[in-house]
Amino acid sequence: MPKGFFKIPEPVNERIRNYAPGTHERATLKQEIERLRSQVMDIPMIIGGEEVRTGNKVSIHPPHDRKHLLGHYHKGDASHVQMAIRAALDAKKKWAALSWEHRASIFLKAADLIAIPYGDTINAATMLGQSKNVMQAEIDSACEMADFLRFNVKYMSEIYQQQPHSPEFTWNRIEHRPLEGFVFALTPFNFTSIAGNLPTAPAMMGNTVVWKCSNTQVYSARVLMDAFVEAGVPPGVINLVFVSGPVAGQEIFTHPDFAGIHFTGSTEVFQHIWQTIGANIKTYRSYPRIVGETGGKDFIFMHPTAKIEEVVVAMVRGAFEYQGQKCSAASRAYIPQSLWPEVKKRMEDMIRGIRMGPPENFNNFFNAVIDETSFDKLASYIDRTRQDKDAEVIIGGGYDKTEGFFIEPTVILASDPQYVTMQEELFGPVLTLYVYDDDQIEETVEILNNTSIYALTGAIFAQDRYAIEFLTDRLSDCAGNFYINDKPTGAVVGQQPFGGARGSGTNDKAGSILNMLRWVSPRTIKENFLPPKDYRYAFMDDE
Ligand code: NAD
Repeated sequence: MPKGFFKIPEPVNERIRNYAPGTHERATLKQEIERLRSQVMDIPMIIGGEEVRTGNKVSIHPPHDRKHLLGHYHKGDASHVQMAIRAALDAKKKWAALSWEHRASIFLKAADLIAIPYGDTINAATMLGQSKNVMQAEIDSACEMADFLRFNVKYMSEIYQQQPHSPEFTWNRIEHRPLEGFVFALTPFNFTSIAGNLPTAPAMMGNTVVWKCSNTQVYSARVLMDAFVEAGVPPGVINLVFVSGPVAGQEIFTHPDFAGIHFTGSTEVFQHIWQTIGANIKTYRSYPRIVGETGGKDFIFMHPTAKIEEVVVAMVRGAFEYQGQKCSAASRAYIPQSLWPEVKKRMEDMIRGIRMGPPENFNNFFNAVIDETSFDKLASYIDRTRQDKDAEVIIGGGYDKTEGFFIEPTVILASDPQYVTMQEELFGPVLTLYVYDDDQIEETVEILNNTSIYALTGAIFAQDRYAIEFLTDRLSDCAGNFYINDKPTGAVVGQQPFGGARGSGTNDKAGSILNMLRWVSPRTIKENFLPPKDYRYAFMDDE
């Protein structure tokens, strides 16, 4: 039991290193990339603190270098999901009873490990396994992961401090208990930090977790798990399994002790999961917490008073960093007719300068998309656009999967503002533009509002303050993260809590106190110091 009201170290965002030529960080990272490339890693599942190997090995290749073998992971089946559930339930009592400052210490240590001794390894693994350039790996796997852990510890302590009022002779208290049962963390491929945050946020609040990562993120998930174990996360608290989504779902969503899901991924998968949970609702001991951050069709709206160079940079960085594989990536933009010729020219110039290739070569801004399924899907949208009369590919559009899954940064010009690539999430380096008449701002804003099912991020660019106020107001339901004169990507933990509404998720704001509150079930305790000794009330006395 704690014997003090401990003050946690005040978190600050991890410093982002720039990896410029000649820096120490560049030299050590390059060495680590070489070291990882020169070995074949054998990656087991981690269940109840044990390494579990099945012999059913799946090979891991960099998306940009298909022939190179990075390692294998051991694929599991339903029996491993059951083992992981049992391990989580067995570990629960002891973990939930551990004083909060010790849980805090473990995750603060994990943050320091990931930022410093594991920094090069986690960045190199993310670059090789997920095809991220060095800056994209740095802001994600080293920095954002450390930020999630440190800020979540702060939010945890703030939650425990939230206590009710107590009138005389009474002490009212609230205990923020972990959920009863186990939590399922189901994570996406595109951010190592999100993959790490989804199991650690509930674990920090005293829950035990079954973590199923994406098959295309196993390589960096392994490094995270090593850091968590070294930091002192006890056996059974976080159990990492490598199984297919439906196999995991079949075991998890039919278990009576399933207490909640922390999900990030596509809208389609989340809706399927929600339906399954709804259909099985009578199976569960409690109503499971359902937290899901999902897809986006994120917009940039350019007002006629916007500065052209600012919008063009926001479109290029917003749409093409990490090959557009960010839920927040700009994928549709609205450009006023009066500025279009100049916008087009500058975009063509800027995109022409983008170098595409493996992230091991630091000159490359742009790398490969995650896998063949994604490559084929993106190529088919590009092919379809080439046939359609309502849209044309005006920049890029080339693709080649000989060496790796490379799709050029691609810009589509749509004459129909409801064209399919203005509506659907493609999750790749494809930006669709619609050029609107300068006199039709209100109508275009209305179209923007009604074009897609998503409401994740969005950006407006304008110099006129009346326009900024108007657009901010009219687009209030279109984005959970809204940017004024900035690109719609790059949210920072502790600064811009992240999440969207409509089809984009439950908007529980990852990296904020709102998210952490989802992993506790409060118990209110009233203690009476002077309990009454007579059942009768004063009004019943004789006059
Ligand atoms: P995905 O939905 O394909 O997969 C997410 C996870 O769900 C993976 O672990 C996958 O194996 C699993 N899964 C897939 N089908 C399943 C099923 N039927 N049952 C159970 N589990 C299943 O997503 P992805 O391709 O890994 O990630 C990209 C998606 O994630 C995009 O839609 C992107 O917008 C979204 N995303 C959202 C945010 C956000 O904060 N809103 C952040 C990152 C990514």
